Amino acid sequence: MGSGGIPRMIRGSVVVQRRRCGKPNCRCADGEQLHEATVLSYSEGGRNRTVMLSPGEVKAVAAAVARYRAARAKLEEQANAGLAALLARPASARRGR
Ligand SMILES: [Zn+2]
Repeated sequence: MGSGGIPRMIRGSVVVQRRRCGKPNCRCADGEQLHEATVLSYSEGGRNRTVMLSPGEVKAVAAAVARYRAARAKLEEQANAGLAALLARPASARRGR
């Protein structure tokens, strides 16, 4: 995939998975030298899923995840400020008609 193929924002977490491949004669079979793969971990419909990332994608995907988190935090902050402003209205305004 070219460098332009990564979306600007991505929900999930970039994590390194370590696991056995299952081949009996592989170096990973003794459990000491496991294979490492960088994946995007995300939840969908209440289930945790992962998607493999190629080495060339990791940096851009991690940046897109960070962008989403920053945007989400900012949105949360604005919504909390809105709630605080609503709750701070004078009592007379709260009574309605
Ligand atoms: Zn292996």
